[in-house]
Parts: sequence; structure tokens; C-alpha cells
Amino acid sequence: MIPFLDLKKLNQRFQTEFETQFQSFLQNGTYIKGDRVAEFERLFAAYCGSQYCIGTANGLDALTLILKGYMHLGKLQKGDQVLVPSNTFIASILSIINAGLKPVLVEPNETSFNIDISGIESHYSQNIKAIIVVHLYGQLVEMDPVKSFCKEHNLLLIEDAAQAHGAENDKGEKAGSLGNAAAFSFYPAKNLGALGDGGAVTTNDKDLAEAIQLLGNYGSSQKYKFGAIGINSRLDEIQAAWLTIKLRRLDADNALRRNIANQYATQINNPKITLPNYSGSLDHVFYVYVVRVKDRDDFIKYLKINGVGSHVHYPVSPNLQNALKSHKFGSYPVSERIHNSVVSIPLNPILTDHEVKHIVDVLNAY
Ligand SMILES: *Cc1c(COP(=O)(O)O)cnc(C)c1O
Repeated sequence: MIPFLDLKKLNQRFQTEFETQFQSFLQNGTYIKGDRVAEFERLFAAYCGSQYCIGTANGLDALTLILKGYMHLGKLQKGDQVLVPSNTFIASILSIINAGLKPVLVEPNETSFNIDISGIESHYSQNIKAIIVVHLYGQLVEMDPVKSFCKEHNLLLIEDAAQAHGAENDKGEKAGSLGNAAAFSFYPAKNLGALGDGGAVTTNDKDLAEAIQLLGNYGSSQKYKFGAIGINSRLDEIQAAWLTIKLRRLDADNALRRNIANQYATQINNPKITLPNYSGSLDHVFYVYVVRVKDRDDFIKYLKINGVGSHVHYPVSPNLQNALKSHKFGSYPVSERIHNSVVSIPLNPILTDHEVKHIVDVLNAY
């Protein structure tokens, strides 16, 4: 069986380096907000090409803290509306609700799976004050038209970059530097994954960076003095030490992912399976490789019988989730079609050539 993702094997590549760091971590005795977090924040900001990076406890907090940070600065008001794609992991939408704002779902482009300018224009109203774009599956959103739109309408542009660490546009700009602020998740399965939960915000906005530092640390900038109603959302030293080691390999790992995606694109040739659109450029880091089929249950069963693990990102469109019922989002046919037909097949830096070939053969024989 080729598992969808063997995290243990993936992380074992870093074991020796980490053991050295772990010893020094134990000797040091600082667990939160120490040198390791500061060092990782500095390295990750530089990697993304942004001025500031603030570690958080997870990706959902990173998103929520960006929104709460803007509210703290008076740039967003309670009840303001925020555009967000209708096909995303629910965290993108929850962050808006949890910050006291109102999500307005936007149908994606069915070819790219991403939000695009036509969707944004058709869902825009005067009540919209910000847009969260999601670089879904690791593919960058086409940002230039979105940026111009935000400038024209004075909207905040926030990236949910939880699936897109290292994705880069044709100007060499990376996810995390393409809007006013960006949220990352270091959930273990992500392209840059921790040994538990973790997240970060990147931004060039000094005021926002300070607001997020404050709000993520109980609203305190000085010990036991509280200037705002904050939360506790910090990155741990041990996760920062691990992420610093893993960051060095991120570009190489993303290149391995793209290489496998290129093999799938050229070698899988089955009219029953629709492959994702991919130009071959650096703007996709293939957090997951998502194909579409008519009868998903049948396809997944077939894969399993033939020794190929799979996963569904994601099975139910957020507008149909029970948790969001009270928002009365209505129907989102494009999004629902996508959620009904997508299947993610294995794609990660530790797949062997032999495994890739087996996966290609199995898909071609379906
Ligand atoms: C993983 C993910 C998140 C949330 O990250 P957590 O660290 O699990 O809180 C947010 N948005 C997207 C698109 C994600 O894939």
C-alpha cells in the first residue's frame, strides 16, 4: 500500500539534525518566546520576502489575529464583510466569524480551483472591507487583478497561505508577500510542517505586526500590563527549532513535488480522470495533487484495492456545513460540484520513482 502521506518517513529525514537541536533546547530551558522563535521568525520573514513574521499557535489563529489586529488598529469594524472563497478549508471562513466579521462566499474559478477577479467583482458590495484569498492546494491565486481591485476599492488583501509555503510568482515574489498580510499553518501535513501545531503571520505592516504580537500574547506588551483583550497564541521554541531545520529543505522539497506533478501531468492519460491545470511554473507547490472523477466512491475503492492511498480535500462545501447553517449562504453550484468530485492522490517529497510509476499505472488502468 502506498499511503497518502507517510509523515513519519518524511520527518525521519531531519532526525539527526533535530536530535542535536533537541539536546541544546533541553539544556537551554526556555520553552516559549525565546531565541529559537525569534530566529525562525527572522528566517521565515526573509524567506517569504516580507519584513515581519510573528509565530502563532496555529494557522487559524494566524488568520484570526490578522483580522483582529486590523480591528484593533481601527481598519476593520465589527460586522464588516469579508470576501472569502466558497471552496476552502473551513478555517478561512471561521477566522472571519471568530473575529466578529461577516464572511461573504465567492464561487471559485473551476479550472484553477481558486478565487478570481470575476468572482470577486460579482460578489462585491460597499459593505466589503477585506478579501481573504486562499492559495488552494498550493497554487497561487492570480494576484495582479485582485491587487488592483483592492487598491481601487480600498480593501485589505489577506492571503491564506496555509497550503502555499514557497509558491512563487513570475516576478520571484513568494506567498506571504503578495498582500497586506498573510497567514501560514505549520500543521504537520503542510509543506512546511511542525511536530504538532504551529502557525505564523507575515506582513510589511509594522503597526499590524505589533498589534498581532500584542493580541497573540494576552494583549500584553509588558509583563502583567494588559493593553488589549488578547488571546494566548504563540509558537513554541521546540517547534521553531524544528521548523528552522525543515525550512532549509523547503525549496528542494517543493521542487520534488513539482517534478512528480509534471510526471503525473505527462503520464496519466485517462479520459475518466481530469487532472489539475498546471503551467509547469513555480507558482504551484502541490500541497496536494487533486484530480476529478465522476464516481468518486468507486474511484477511491478502486485505488484502495490497487494499493494507492487517497484523501478528499474536501468532501463538503462550506456553504452546506451544519456549523454554518445560520449564515444562510444559499447554493454555490461550482463549489459543490468541485467538492463532489475531487480526490487527492499521493504526491509528496518521499515518493519513490517506483511508487510514482505504480500510481500512474493504476490511474491509467481505471
Ligand atoms: C491548514 C489550513 C488552515 C488552518 O491551519 P491550522 O494550523 O490547522 O489551524 C487554514 N487555511 C487553510 C487553507 C488550511 O489548509
